Amino acid sequence: MIKQGKMKNMKKKKIYLDYAATTPVDKKVLKAMLPYFKERFGNAMSIHYFGQEAMLAVDKARSQIAKFFNCFSKEIIFTSGATESNNLAIKGVSKFYFLKNKKKPHIITTQFEHNCVLNSCKTLEKQDRANITYLPINKDGIVKLDSLKKAIKKNTILISIMYVNNEIGTVQPIKEIGKIIKQKNSKRKNKILFHTDATQGINFFDMNVKKLNIDLLSFSGHKIYGPKGVGALYVKKSTPIKSIQDGGGHENKMRAGTHNIPGIVGLGKAIEIIASQNKKKENKKMLKLRDYLIKKVLKEISGSYLNGSLVKRSPNNAHFRIDNVEGEAMLLSLDKEGIAVSTASACSVKDLKPSHVLLAIGLKQEQTHGSLRFTLGRHTTKKKIDTTINALKKTVKKLRNISGNLLDEFK
Ligand code: PMP
Repeated sequence: MIKQGKMKNMKKKKIYLDYAATTPVDKKVLKAMLPYFKERFGNAMSIHYFGQEAMLAVDKARSQIAKFFNCFSKEIIFTSGATESNNLAIKGVSKFYFLKNKKKPHIITTQFEHNCVLNSCKTLEKQDRANITYLPINKDGIVKLDSLKKAIKKNTILISIMYVNNEIGTVQPIKEIGKIIKQKNSKRKNKILFHTDATQGINFFDMNVKKLNIDLLSFSGHKIYGPKGVGALYVKKSTPIKSIQDGGGHENKMRAGTHNIPGIVGLGKAIEIIASQNKKKENKKMLKLRDYLIKKVLKEISGSYLNGSLVKRSPNNAHFRIDNVEGEAMLLSLDKEGIAVSTASACSVKDLKPSHVLLAIGLKQEQTHGSLRFTLGRHTTKKKIDTTINALKKTVKKLRNISGNLLDEFK
């Protein structure tokens, strides 16, 4: 463990390239939140002035979010983050079906979803509450649409496919999937719902749920320059879903627990800021930096490869496989140089199993170990990228030398 005092000194002149793990809170977001920690501290469920003041703030955030997704305010359910939203979407929809029909539904997802989606599905399987199909992913990191069409059964009730993969940043064909489901639904009595975990896509891509035919959409505050511990689930009106929590019937009886008012206010503001930006312009700026990083690394570091498609990729993600070096060793060495990157998603980093995402795109177990994720954000500059490239070159050279020397010793 690093001691507090030492941590303060270590913080100077750091370069942060792990925006997919979390983002700093925007100054305007923090400013909007602060009064709700202090003088406006009411519980939104209270009938008196303080409660009403808090409820007004929740309503405002709900409408800021609804505007962004082109949906009704009532269709937004506040949660503690994308993990809870994904659990609610998957378990809540299958619970409704199971209770009504006393039969197991069929759910389709992919092999490379975030663990909170995969583990929600695995729990349902273990409880004998659903049959699940895990769709394969091609080597570019894109779900195979042919497999999706073939996987749909009579009792399929839900298709859950992420918008942007959190490790390799590949963008899934959400619009096409929405179209496929709409077409299938036009010929079926029992409708298939479309859920997407859009956590990593909010900053960059189209989130018009009506246009995309999305029934349920999950996202989180801390990936969009908002606070941690808050998120939301969009649930289209009349969607057959049941709450999975016991407690007070907040959020249209879909969620229990006192509202996180400062968090909700911050979430609304963070979304409002994204809505006010020129996405095309912002994406172009980031894409330029990302492509510069990718080009330089592939050119200047032998045995380096980009994981996932270059084209169908989030503008902030560069994910490399580098031969003959360990990802963790590279991460620690870069950290010493003041550069923060990641080897896998922050949620699974303590689990030293090979990444299920990299296995899903066809990497061999041993190839998964030398992978490194760089995710850019609003504060990334060309200078920071240049410093990072130089440090990475130095790191790879140093680590390859060490492992070469070790191998020599065992010869
Ligand atoms: N889904 C995706 C794609 C994510 O990247 C994350 C966070 N790493 C989550 C879900 C979980 O989000 P939260 O931290 O808000 O629970």
